[in-house]
Formats: sequence, C-alpha cells, structure tokens
Amino acid sequence: MSFAKEVKKEVLKNTLKSRHCNMAFMSVLIKNYGRIVENSGQKSLVISSDNEDIIRKCFTMLKKIYNIDIGVLSKGNSFYIEISDEITIQTILQGMKMWHDNKPDIPKDGVISSLLIPKMCCKRAYLSALFLCQGQITDPAKSYHLEIVTSSEKESEQVKEVLEAFEISAGSTLRKNQHLVYIKDGTVIVEFLNVISAYVSLMNLENERIIKEIANDTNRRVNFETANLVKSINTATKQIMDIELIEERLGLDSLPDDLRQMAIVRLEHGDAPLAELGGYLTPAIGKSGVNHRLRKITKIADELRGTQNS
Ligand SMILES: [Zn+2]
Repeated sequence: MSFAKEVKKEVLKNTLKSRHCNMAFMSVLIKNYGRIVENSGQKSLVISSDNEDIIRKCFTMLKKIYNIDIGVLSKGNSFYIEISDEITIQTILQGMKMWHDNKPDIPKDGVISSLLIPKMCCKRAYLSALFLCQGQITDPAKSYHLEIVTSSEKESEQVKEVLEAFEISAGSTLRKNQHLVYIKDGTVIVEFLNVISAYVSLMNLENERIIKEIANDTNRRVNFETANLVKSINTATKQIMDIELIEERLGLDSLPDDLRQMAIVRLEHGDAPLAELGGYLTPAIGKSGVNHRLRKITKIADELRGTQNS
C-alpha cells in the first residue's frame, strides 16, 4: 500500500466525537462528492465516488449527525448515497451552509463557510477530510512532498489560512490549471500528520527519516574510511617502489643502518600502517619516527629518478 493510502486509511478509521467536528468533516465530503440531481421534477442530493470507503464514511456520519434512514448503493464502479426527501436535503445543506436564497448552493470554488470551522478541533477535522479527498503524499522513503489539490485560488487561500492556525506554513502554486497547496519539508509534514491525527503514519514517517539519516551517516563514514584506506595503500605502494629502486640502483647496503632496517621492514610488511611498522624495528620507534625515515628513503629515490631523468 502506498504511504498516501495508509494515511487516508488512518483518517477514515478515526472517529470524531463532537457534532461540530463531524459537520466540518462532512462539509468537505459534500463539496467534493455531492451534487443535486433532478429527475422528472424530483430533486435528489447524490453523494457519489468510486471510493467505497469514502461513501461508507459519509453514510456513517450522516446517520450520526441527522439520524436519517439511508443506504449505500452501487452502480458500476461507483458507490453512492441518494437522498430524495426535500426537507432532509434542506436540513443537511443548511447545516453545511450550502443553502442560500432558498435553494441548494454547493460551492464550486471549494470554499466552505468559516462558520463551520470556528474551533481548532473543527479545523483539524476539516484538514483531515481535505487530505482524504484532495490530498497526496509521496512515499517518505523517496522524498518529502505533501499536496492538496484545490478548486480555486480562494480555496488555496482558505487551506493555507487554516494551516496557519496550527503554525504550518505551506506554499501554493498553479500547476496544469490546478491550484495546489504543498509542503516539502519533512518536519512540517510530520506536524501536518499530527494535526490530522494520523499518528501511525507519523511514526512510520519518523522511522523512515531515522533510517535515512543513519544511512547518510554510515555512507559518510564508509566513504571517509575508504578514502583513508586508498590513501594509505597508495603511500605504501609508492614507498615500496622507492625502496625497490634504491635496491636496484645502489643496493640496500648503501643506506645508513636505520634507513636500511626501515626499508627491509617496509618490504616485509607492505600493507602495515606506520605505527605498526615502528614495532618491527629494534629498538621500536613511534609513528613519526617511521614517517621521518620513510621520507628520507623517498627523498633518496626521488634524487635517483632525478639523476636518471637528467
Ligand atoms: Zn469541533
């Protein structure tokens, strides 16, 4: 299951206690999936979607808020609720502030009445429903991106305003004629998931973030160690070439005793680090002493090469 689906599933599972919160949530469902259908003079409120879970959620909430006798029907790939009683339609839409001048007025610009979201709890419910119906989130293993597709610039403004109430600042843009509100920062996405009470998804995202950070850290360390290893192997290889050159041209016996001993130890322990090499000498010397002697050997070899070149 995609991460977006997981978040939506969690939103669907959460139940809202208060009537005001249920109204805020429901208003988003109705503005997205509700429409008035007229059939030979008979007006019905039809709420339909190909997402059965969403229509079932609608069904549960309408029953809870209005205690009405409805059912979920299906036709092809579509699931729907049909309410034909005029008084009930009016009651529902008036509750959603979508009834004006004595007729239904489901907003086309996607903006809901601010009267539906006066409290923080209702704002949370509104954002949950928005994410459920209009939201997308990228798998956090890949990147951090959350967006809400809105119907108009006015709706984008409303979404951003509600987010601001939770100190979440989001960007907005127009992409392919769609007004989008988006969040690209991992920390802010975590805050958003917290606001919409998607706690399981929040934990999963945090785990992913930790795994990512550890992976980056390990990579950095491995690269660092690899670089050091390559460097020391290169140095040792160069030292051995130097010693072999001296041996070939002058013979190792030509070297002062300390350098000759050093050269022999280096040849015998080709991949040993400097500190270890010092331990093979009698008397044993430290890393800087080894370094000093090897540099002298390199200098002699470089002079030999210089002689050769001239
Ligand atoms: Zn509320």
